[in-house]
Amino acid sequence: MRKPIIAGNWKMNKIRPAAVELAQGLVDRLKDVSGVEVVLCPPFTALREVAKSIEGSSLALGAQNMYHQPSGAYTGEVSGPMLVDLGCKYVIIGHSERREYFKEDNALINLKVKAALSYGLLPILCVGEKLFEREAGKAEEVVYDHLTGGLEGIAHEEMSRIVIAYEPVWAIGTGKTATPEDAEAMHLFIRKTLTQMYDRELARGVRIQYGGSVKPGNIDVLMAEPDIDGALVGGASLDLNSFARIVRFEANS
Ligand code: PEP
Repeated sequence: MRKPIIAGNWKMNKIRPAAVELAQGLVDRLKDVSGVEVVLCPPFTALREVAKSIEGSSLALGAQNMYHQPSGAYTGEVSGPMLVDLGCKYVIIGHSERREYFKEDNALINLKVKAALSYGLLPILCVGEKLFEREAGKAEEVVYDHLTGGLEGIAHEEMSRIVIAYEPVWAIGTGKTATPEDAEAMHLFIRKTLTQMYDRELARGVRIQYGGSVKPGNIDVLMAEPDIDGALVGGASLDLNSFARIVRFEANS
């Protein structure tokens, strides 16, 4: 049985007082929630404060990115050991905004995934096609490339510690969500690809999140799909009521 995982990617938002307010609000509002793993991914600058705010709760801390080297002359970068030191359990790797604005490619993303695992961090590996790629009928090809490239050389045992986030780029921050059927079809394709790369049992155990304009109004139908195991939430994770409602999805409605 895969435990659903809902992660909030706060992106470059919230200075420390606002971050603490949201984190404390969520701890309070989600006290009774069980059976769903909840991860907060604030910006680097608020990681420590949020770590303190969620201490003793069931909420976990994640970072939005990391560099693969452990230390050294890499001005402006943050390493895996630094994230571990701050209390992170998860790290988002290969988000489409990293791929687009910071020119991250599969080779670099693969190094980051390997480095994260080596420090005991659990990677959330993002994959997903752009609109023109979908329109050209190439969505699966792109997702296959992101998966095989990002996971190259990752052993069977390591793969069970990775979460995949399927995020069609055209649905991120645009208000356009993939239909539950389209998202489910791609999640199934991802699971099939993992079966080819590893085996059926492993593929069945890997959690695959959907990301792209997830909101209180669409989370229930998305989570009702058998291969959607959670969500990576951007915009709606910045609002206490919205994120709390998303975590309290009703998959059967
Ligand atoms: C994201 O950035 O991962 C994301 C899915 O953003 P949004 O929910 O705002 O579309």
